[in-house]
Parts: sequence; structure tokens; C-alpha cells
Amino acid sequence: MPNKFTHIDCHAHVNFPNYDTDRAEVIARAHAEGVAIINVGTTLEASRDIVKLAEQYESGVYAIVGMHPLHVKYDKDQTDSEQQTVDSNLNKDGESKNTNTVQDVISAHYSHDYSEDFDEVEFEKLVAHPKTVGVGECGIDIFKLPPDLDNPKDRANLLIIQETVFRKQIQLAVKYDKPIMIHARESYGKILEILDEEFITHGAKLRGNAHFFAGTVEEAQAFLNRGFTVSFTGVITFAKQYEDLVNHVPLEDMLSETDCPFVAPTPHRGKRNEPVFVIEVVKAIARIKGIDEELVRKTLIQNAKEQFKLDF
Ligand SMILES: [Zn+2]
Repeated sequence: MPNKFTHIDCHAHVNFPNYDTDRAEVIARAHAEGVAIINVGTTLEASRDIVKLAEQYESGVYAIVGMHPLHVKYDKDQTDSEQQTVDSNLNKDGESKNTNTVQDVISAHYSHDYSEDFDEVEFEKLVAHPKTVGVGECGIDIFKLPPDLDNPKDRANLLIIQETVFRKQIQLAVKYDKPIMIHARESYGKILEILDEEFITHGAKLRGNAHFFAGTVEEAQAFLNRGFTVSFTGVITFAKQYEDLVNHVPLEDMLSETDCPFVAPTPHRGKRNEPVFVIEVVKAIARIKGIDEELVRKTLIQNAKEQFKLDF
């Protein structure tokens, strides 16, 4: 179906339970408006789900597989012993051990689930899949920790573990010549540091996108200088503080996304977000930059096709 897709949502989570009752309709609504979808994995199970979902469509639904930093396995009890090899510098002998597991402590926190080992063998199978167009969402996020982990020692340990899993995903991406999809929260400096070390080994084979960009103009420029794209969500339709960023990032280095089910754009605020609403993100970019909407639309879909080597 050549030229069927006129827009693209480069970062969606249509696999989430939010769509359990109408997933096919959500995808059909997007496709009817010419919106292609890239679903992004957060765990191994989610990554398997999105690959399966992509397999059901001849075109226009793709997968980026990987592990979100808020899911990397971190067991406070085991940190002093089993994870010593990862953590030799930070081990503090003699410190009393907490008898609660991290899972007990964080079970009340929806967004944190430090429970999953990064299964390289299983992830590699998914990365190699023809419907997989990238690796992620991967990165660093220790911005807001559950109260029991919000101390310097756990913060440092968790950072090391997230970094290890991030680097493993970088290696898989480079091995299969696919871009990475970066998740960062208050961690752009650390991520850039890791990228610069990895560039020494991988050079320009290491490429990707900084998703839901919320850093400074300088930080955005640092990603652009390293050949990365930067993507924006529906938040730019209502949050004025993004305008400098949107103006700064050249259209050629930008991607459109929704990060649905989160952050629905104006005029759908407060509702569940979905991929078809990426059209509002494209309109907002055109408005903020003062560029013709049709040119914005064409450039954004071209950027995605080039970065993710899409089949349409
Ligand atoms: Zn996401």
C-alpha cells in the first residue's frame, strides 16, 4: 500500500491494558487517518506483545523492543551480596539489611517495578524480528524513587544497574543496525556520558531518538550533535515551555509521537490518548515553528521512514 501513511506516531503503547477492549479499533482509527504506529516495549512481555501485534498488520504497525529503566531488576536485599560484581565500589560492609523486598516496598507505586532481569537471549530474538525497527525504551530514570529507595546508596546502586541494562540494549541495537529509543528523566547528562563512551566502540552505528524530550535547549543540541533525533508528544499542544525547544530543533531532526495512553493533546486533554492524535502534535509543531503544515507532515514522516527503515 504505497503512500498510505501520511503521519506517524513514533512512540505508542497500544499494547497497554488501557486498550484491551478496543485495541483493533484504535489501530483502525489511526490507519483510516493515515497514521502509522510504532509501539514501544517496556518489559520482555510487553515487547513480545507488540511484536505479535505488529505481525497482525501487513504494514503500518511496528515494534521497538526493550526494557524501560523503571523495570530493571533491583532487589535491595540482594544488592550487598549477589550484585557485588556490578557494585563493588558501593558495597558498604556492616550496614544492616532491610528485611522487606523492594517489591513489597514499591508495590503501591504504579510506575516502578524493579523486578525484571534483562534476558539478553530472549530480547535478541525480538530485536532480530523483521517487524522490530528499534531497541527501547531504554535509558536512565532515577528521578523519583519509592521512599524506601530514596537514599544515596540505593540511588547509586540503581543507577549502576540501569546503566548496565542500558548498555546491553545499545549493544543489541548496534549488532542489528537498529536505532535506540531513549527514555530519560532528569538524566540527560548521564545518558550523554554513556553515549559518548559507547561511541568510542560503535561510532555512528549507535544512533537513535531521545523520546518525549523535556530537557534544555542545550541538552537537545547535545543529542543533535551526536546524530540523534528528538521527539515531541502532545504536551507541546498545551505547555508553552516547550516552544523554545520546538523552535530550536530543526524539523529534519525531529520525530512526532504520542506516548499514548499518556498526555493526550489539546483538544483531547483528560481523555485516553491514542495514535491518531499525533495529527495534533504535527499541527502544533507547524504552528510553533511557523512552517507550512504539509511540509511539517511530509518531513516528519520522511524522518521516521529513514530512521526506522519502514516498509512503506
Ligand atoms: Zn513510553
